[in-house]
Amino acid sequence: MRMDIITVLPELLESPWNHSIVKRAKEKNLVERNIINLRDFTNDKYKSVDDYAFGGGAGMVMMIEPVFRAIEKLKSERDYDEIIYTSPDGQKFSQKMANRLSMKNNIIILAGHYKGVDQRIRDNLITMEISIGDYVLSGGELPAAAITDAIVRLIPGAISDEQSALLDSFQDDLLAPPVYTRPADFNGWTVPPILLSGHTANIEKWRQEQSEERTMNLKPDLLKEDGEKGGRGGSETKGRRD
Ligand code: SAH
Repeated sequence: MRMDIITVLPELLESPWNHSIVKRAKEKNLVERNIINLRDFTNDKYKSVDDYAFGGGAGMVMMIEPVFRAIEKLKSERDYDEIIYTSPDGQKFSQKMANRLSMKNNIIILAGHYKGVDQRIRDNLITMEISIGDYVLSGGELPAAAITDAIVRLIPGAISDEQSALLDSFQDDLLAPPVYTRPADFNGWTVPPILLSGHTANIEKWRQEQSEERTMNLKPDLLKEDGEKGGRGGSETKGRRD
């Protein structure tokens, strides 16, 4: 899988790719990450990537030309499955979306800045818009980092024990059961005895019950979501590239 992230702040994206699971996935060549500095696609001496908004008002707008040139260059080199724009008004990111995106080969993520990118880029080049939640961040780099992390850890081989990703919260629409490690008794705070029993089948049953109970109590909406949501196919995408 190849991920190209277009940004005006490349430094913000370095660190998340240099640690833990994402780093290992990169080292194992399961994923190739390419950070594209939007300023490399400007052609004025100030390397401008923003301009005033038509109609006036506060705040700058990410200009069309550098973004267009960056995306066109990438598209001339390979086919992309999805060209994503991070935006607070996009589809809310979910584990299902991460699952689906983890099966793609080539993805571009455009990290927005200022008041956002010129709408014509969204209308004509972007195939999918993703929000990481109903709040506004200063730029799309942290959303891009969150999205890529969630995707990369799902690529087979990224996590040494693949089972471990499958048992995470939201896979199967259930939250993960609680976890404990040594000591079994910390100043009277004890571990559920079943986990110390060594009885695998009972432990599995307990974990399943805990998952269901936690989901019911903490996120009952997950239980109401039937297969339809998971099977939405590409309905959350804005349309396909040609
Ligand atoms: N004026 C815009 C917000 C711009 S914030 C609005 O009101 O919708 C600047 C950039 O940060 C956005 O273009 C987007 O790329 C990114 N961003 C901010 N919050 C985000 C969120 N919750 N999810 C995804 N991207 C976000």
